[in-house]
Amino acid sequence: MRTIELLSRLQSIGPHSGHYHYSTSHCCLIESTMAEDISKLHFATRAVHTGVNKDSLFNSCTTPIYTSSTYYWNDLETNSGYDYTRSANPTRTALEENISALEGGVGAQATATGMAAITAAMHLFSPHDHIIAGNDIYGGTYRLFADVFTKMGLEFSFVDMSDPQNVKDAIKPNTKCIWIETPSNPLLNLIDIAAMTEIAKQADVLTIADNTFLSPYLQRPFEYGVDIIVHSTTKYLNGHSDVVGGCVVSRTEELAAKVAYTVNSLGLACAPFDAFLVLRGVKTLAPRMEAHQRGAEALARMLDEHPHVEKVYYPGLESHPHHELAKKQQDGFGGMLSFDIKGGRPAAEKLFAKIQLFQLAESLGGIESLIEYPETMSHASMTLEARREAGISENTIRVSVGIEAPEDLVADMKQALEE
Ligand SMILES: *Cc1c(COP(=O)(O)O)cnc(C)c1O
Repeated sequence: MRTIELLSRLQSIGPHSGHYHYSTSHCCLIESTMAEDISKLHFATRAVHTGVNKDSLFNSCTTPIYTSSTYYWNDLETNSGYDYTRSANPTRTALEENISALEGGVGAQATATGMAAITAAMHLFSPHDHIIAGNDIYGGTYRLFADVFTKMGLEFSFVDMSDPQNVKDAIKPNTKCIWIETPSNPLLNLIDIAAMTEIAKQADVLTIADNTFLSPYLQRPFEYGVDIIVHSTTKYLNGHSDVVGGCVVSRTEELAAKVAYTVNSLGLACAPFDAFLVLRGVKTLAPRMEAHQRGAEALARMLDEHPHVEKVYYPGLESHPHHELAKKQQDGFGGMLSFDIKGGRPAAEKLFAKIQLFQLAESLGGIESLIEYPETMSHASMTLEARREAGISENTIRVSVGIEAPEDLVADMKQALEE
């Protein structure tokens, strides 16, 4: 795998070459013990220490931002392991090693956006290949699949994947991939990851999971045999609503090499400054996710009993149809929830006008609470029929719960729901 190769090349340069290098002896404990020992450390520890790429030139404790587009060679055969930033960059490598370790993969590519990550993953396929995806996947992914990649000759079936039988029935001789996004957006339906990888194994097809909604802190699809994980790091991994980014993580070295080749060929990699921001964000992933889900659970319980609310979609509620599956395959219920308000769009508009602590905005996963209306915002790129089929109505409101005090969020939501 590229990173490992890189690592050994860097190590062979040695600590006194005057170039950027890894020193395995003192400052990079984690890299030097990655293979055997990293899994013994707790998640929160790995998030802080993995792939930090300290610069031993000045003993910096954090990762420098290497803005150089190009790197000089020592002679015609040797360089530092980096030659051109589109192909690889030390700041980006640090982020890639971090996310890869948190997901339990062998390598990752950090991309400019989540859509760039999905674009990279989809280039594993060729015209006439058939891909099965959920009928309630992220709107931008749906558009990319149903329009852009369909025009390029890929074939898609969009099915209700909450019932594995629908996926089995959709398998065709040219099926090459099952695309898993769980929980779904915005209605938080779950897909049984183990059931999907079982079907995939029998049909000899790849599985790719979009793990954006839960992050590796709460769900690690590789543990179920998924082949590739994609992220919009824009969301929880960065967590501060101040960068767009993505990532593709691979479970095998063969796939990691293919994805690296594609990201380099298509020029999808993220800028060093963006890599630095996401790396900075990901170090606090564990405590942030804990705070997000504390708030989400408090809000979900209040909304569930509120007379102006028709229905709450949160896998942490015992009444959620996939509550047991959530307990089985997730380490928590996450920071996203949706609900149907009684009274349709006029009631929703009133709530948006009154609410104080939740900004009316798309996106999710940031420290600040956001609220939005899928009908005209996040899911506007779907057709009306596709929205209705997925269960999104004029009553549906989606909330990305931030890390504010749950009591304040509950009180604000309550006052906004009053007549
Ligand atoms: C936001 C999002 C994407 C797209 O990511 P960008 O960073 O906006 O390109 C893909 N999948 C899911 C689940 C998302 O929430």
